Amino acid sequence: MNDYAGIIDRLKGAGRFLVASHYSPDGDGIGSTLALGNVLSKMGKDVVLYNRDGVPANLRFLPGADRVVSRLDQDQEFDMTIMVDCAQSLRVSDEFAAHKKLGTIACIDHHMLEKTEAEVLLLDPTAASAGEVVMRLMKRAGLEADADVAQCIYTTLVVDTGFFKYSSTNAHVFELAAELVKAGAEPWEVAKHMDESYPASRMKLLARSLSTLEIDLGGRYATMEVSQDMLAATGATMEVSDEFATFPRSIQDVEVAALFRDLGDGAIKVSLRSKDIVDVSALARSMGGGGHARASGVRMRATMAEAKLRIKTAVEHALKG
Ligand code: 5GP
Repeated sequence: MNDYAGIIDRLKGAGRFLVASHYSPDGDGIGSTLALGNVLSKMGKDVVLYNRDGVPANLRFLPGADRVVSRLDQDQEFDMTIMVDCAQSLRVSDEFAAHKKLGTIACIDHHMLEKTEAEVLLLDPTAASAGEVVMRLMKRAGLEADADVAQCIYTTLVVDTGFFKYSSTNAHVFELAAELVKAGAEPWEVAKHMDESYPASRMKLLARSLSTLEIDLGGRYATMEVSQDMLAATGATMEVSDEFATFPRSIQDVEVAALFRDLGDGAIKVSLRSKDIVDVSALARSMGGGGHARASGVRMRATMAEAKLRIKTAVEHALKG
């Protein structure tokens, strides 16, 4: 784990790179992809940046966002493939997992180690974002962040610390943020795109989703839902509901919050958040998902009622433990 020297040697030795992150990407996945892509390009490498779902609208302001492709050429050969912000090829996409010419597979992440296909690992759960791990890698390699890279890495910090609020926020995060701002990151520009530019349909969807709020387990567990009907009625896309789970968590005395989203294909996406006690990553992992102690997720093939019962049972157990 954390073989910085090893990965730097391999980066120097390879010429053709693929950089990819998980599907339904967030600001950490995209910000890390773009920062690493930028650095590799400056090193004179051939780089393809890939995300199955492309770049979400609120992240298209990031420098280099137009470089991200959402289809892979199965005949294109790479010397090295780097997964950022995830460790499993199936979390990237089916076409990625099926690709036979990825070369050496590396993983740069800040989640707890899961099963991985990567041969080279740079995994640092003490980092607030995968972007912070990219930054550490750059420093070890003697590379400085220019304004474009700084903007991307600053965005990964903002997203994964909830604007410097979550428990992952520490002195080092503030130091890094200051360093990035000095290098050219623009906090207001990032905030405007990430938190001040929502489509009106998101507010309409939020209103409907809030009306499904349920508080249970003696006031310690709160849930909300998003259904396909709500999307149809409001014209919203599912991705605008990505942070809705923070609303049930914001209620006094609630320790665990869950957002249940009906993906419309027989699967329910559950986003879990906790405040101080429950390790929701362990809970998600026990059902095939993953994430962090205070923010995790799992996708399950189930009806809404089944998913809710499964999660409630597990949360009840975790709250007793
Ligand atoms: P969210 O619920 O906001 O999608 O995700 C919260 C955290 O859990 C993120 O760090 C995300 O990468 C992780 N996560 C969400 N869903 C999954 C999943 O299905 N599998 C794994 N391994 N991690 C997930």
